[in-house]
Amino acid sequence: MHPFLRKLNGIFARGASHAPEDLPLEAVLSEEEFNNYSFVIGGLFTYFNDLPEAEKRKFVSRVHHFKTGKKFHFIGLEHQEDTSTLVSASAVQVTFGLNNYSLTHFKDIYILADAYHMEDDEELYIGHVAPEGIYLSWKHFLYGYSNKTDNINVAVHEMAHALLYNNFFAQYGIDNHFRLNYERFSNSTGPILADAITNRRSYLRSYAFSNLHEFWAVSVEAFFENPKGLRDNMPELYVALCGVLNQDPMTHQKIIKSEP
Ligand SMILES: [Zn+2]
Repeated sequence: MHPFLRKLNGIFARGASHAPEDLPLEAVLSEEEFNNYSFVIGGLFTYFNDLPEAEKRKFVSRVHHFKTGKKFHFIGLEHQEDTSTLVSASAVQVTFGLNNYSLTHFKDIYILADAYHMEDDEELYIGHVAPEGIYLSWKHFLYGYSNKTDNINVAVHEMAHALLYNNFFAQYGIDNHFRLNYERFSNSTGPILADAITNRRSYLRSYAFSNLHEFWAVSVEAFFENPKGLRDNMPELYVALCGVLNQDPMTHQKIIKSEP
């Protein structure tokens, strides 16, 4: 693309992230930029490697747009472009079926070297979402994507929280499909929650039953980490998640409806 056009495209893309009604634009990247992103993302994300070519291009352009719209802060580790790319890819994975994928409310992403304490809190955190930003331990981020059988992936978990926050508590970047279908999702999962609480056992780890927000985040984690396991053990929940996220991770295509 001509450098001037690329610049113009960048300006519009940034502008769009502040306009509540506008959907984020997907950047047009050069072949070289596409290949560089693919190399970095493909090194860790089997989700990405499974995608057909057209969806790979869509994924990469979303990662580029997401990454350039955020400020990344590195605490206890060096600033690395690849790190920002991979964290952006985890957000794009969770929101891939949605039109409005930018989590516009969140301008800042904090990447810490390892697990951390919050002020006046004894507990160790590996990630959390607060109104001022998304926080992730890089060590645990990598662990989440390298261990594919334990249903634990902190980045997917926190991006699921951020998506919910962005759509229900923030003013910008609302995705209408998500909002409408999340309400359906929470209605349909009532019996699943009640059953798990009564029987004190579930395919999902017990942390899911701390509250509704954790139920959502832990479910999304299992959905992407081991879709077959979740579908075999909790088919209603699996179908409900496909509906709300407009994607089915068991397929190559992932996205269910191109216009949700
Ligand atoms: Zn959580």
